[in-house]
Amino acid sequence: MKNIVFIAPPAAGKGTQAKKICSHYHVPHISVGDLLREVSSSGTEEGKNIDEKMKHGILIEDTYMVHLIEGRLQKGDCENGFLLDGFPRSQSQALLYDEMLEKRAQRVELCLYLKLDYEEAKNRITGRMSCPNCGHVFNEKIEGLKPIQDYICDFCKTSLAKRKDDNEESFKERFDTYQRETEPLLTYYQQKGLIRTIDACQSADEVFKEIISILEEGAS
Ligand code: AMP
Repeated sequence: MKNIVFIAPPAAGKGTQAKKICSHYHVPHISVGDLLREVSSSGTEEGKNIDEKMKHGILIEDTYMVHLIEGRLQKGDCENGFLLDGFPRSQSQALLYDEMLEKRAQRVELCLYLKLDYEEAKNRITGRMSCPNCGHVFNEKIEGLKPIQDYICDFCKTSLAKRKDDNEESFKERFDTYQRETEPLLTYYQQKGLIRTIDACQSADEVFKEIISILEEGAS
């Protein structure tokens, strides 16, 4: 599978699409947000610092992110490909990611831009819920992502939970961070001719179909 980078505002469905792509191509899904949430719930000083930043949508320091991601990519399951979801999220991270990949004789091959405007993103955030047991993500406001039974996971029947940072105030801060730090990456990857734009207002299945057709272009 091609080495992909996502650029997507909060609630554009990046995590959902990343999971779908990974199960389609049988590669590990590495959610940077999930890795950070694991540390933040550890109760350590480091965890508390990270938790505080995440609550406000502030990006964690690059040095920490590189240490976290390099450690994860060294695991054996990444040898035959992986999908990194949530990194890079700023110009400095894009440069660091290029360096990380260069050490592995790899490079970013495609940048998927999931386009969604502020109002639609805000609407969606308030509907997002995930399963604390198996990690599946649902959304009561998006067709195709609603759980069959309200507030219950379709897969393991556990009660669904909301993320701490999925409230309107935190969303605003995360969207601001996205516009300030992450959106400029569009220019970085545009200059490399790697951007493909997808309308993230479509259903999750439609977005996925479009992604797969982009990924399969040129494949025989
Ligand atoms: P996500 O689950 O991708 O929405 O990320 C949740 C939060 O984790 C963000 O609001 C940031 O505080 C932090 N985070 C995620 N990815 C990164 C990154 N690449 N660099 C720094 N902080 C990050």
